Amino acid sequence: MTDYPVIDAGSDDAFDDLLAANREFAASFDGGLEGKAVKGVMLVTCMDARIDPLRILGLEVGDAKVFRNPGGRVTDAALEAVVLGVNLLGVERVLVVPHTSCAMAASTQDQVREKVGAACGHDASWATFGVVADQQASLVDDVQRILHHPLVPDSVHVAGFVYDVDSGELERRA
Ligand SMILES: [Zn+2]
Repeated sequence: MTDYPVIDAGSDDAFDDLLAANREFAASFDGGLEGKAVKGVMLVTCMDARIDPLRILGLEVGDAKVFRNPGGRVTDAALEAVVLGVNLLGVERVLVVPHTSCAMAASTQDQVREKVGAACGHDASWATFGVVADQQASLVDDVQRILHHPLVPDSVHVAGFVYDVDSGELERRA
């Protein structure tokens, strides 16, 4: 694809199954999508593997912008994505979607540091993790952060929902 130097490319077989799957995917790939969100939708949601951000809204690839992080928080990086989405990429509706049974809402900062430190065998007491002490309060704050951002036009609809990973249902909370 691109001509640039890669050191030791191919010496690691950890990705072989994924590359094989990609070859199958690409064999019947049509392309032709544009970079804008066709349905004007953007989601900010958690990295949790149980969430399929397009399918839970009946959307398909090309329909929406998706920004994910631990907890589905409206961080500075998420705001950067929202500002680009609403101004340049066709986004008219932004959904902030944390979820039930989220690890980031079930632990304190110190607990996450301890777990990470134990897992990797290094001191993690200096690291910051975006834990959520009160999911509802954080969701309201996050929606407000977007609504009050000077580079987000008033015409953009912003709302907060909680996704139930057991029932698959979205409930509007903000
Ligand atoms: Zn989560």
